[in-house]
Amino acid sequence: MTKFGYKQTPEHIAKRKVCGPRNPMWKGTLEYLKRSIANHKSDDCLLWPFSKSYRDYGGVWYEGRSVPVHRLAFFFTHGHWPTPNGLHTCDNPPCFNPRHIIEGTQADNLADMRRKGRDRTLRGEQRPSSKTDNATVLKIRAEYIPRKVTAKYLAEKYNLALRNVVGILGRQTWKHI
Ligand SMILES: [Zn+2]
Repeated sequence: MTKFGYKQTPEHIAKRKVCGPRNPMWKGTLEYLKRSIANHKSDDCLLWPFSKSYRDYGGVWYEGRSVPVHRLAFFFTHGHWPTPNGLHTCDNPPCFNPRHIIEGTQADNLADMRRKGRDRTLRGEQRPSSKTDNATVLKIRAEYIPRKVTAKYLAEKYNLALRNVVGILGRQTWKHI
């Protein structure tokens, strides 16, 4: 019997979500982190598969405390902690690819989000990343005739990616006009 009042089986232990010395996985996670960073040579996101503390961020027990994985990845890569914050350029919290982690403030993060047009309050042509404008969207919808004036033809005519034109025609994008 333990202080929890029941005998802990390996199944109980494996089910525990805590990341720290009481989690039998914790000894492996730091090694996993270092090995993954060393082996990951691409610019794709590298996702943390273990317990997620810090809400969406993964945590690793390091020198007596639990540290978010992306901060630790930055630390091992650059030799210092990201100050004040480690920010994801990929907007993917469980990612710990050091190429996607930059240091900066929360204000930098918000400015970066606005620059990329991810701010949800901006729509259509207000978005800095927008490839087209209201007038073009209306023209594309007016000119489209199934099997005659195709999405591919319109994409070439207005110099847009086919998927953008398909989104406009299917009203997955530019829904507000
Ligand atoms: Zn990433």
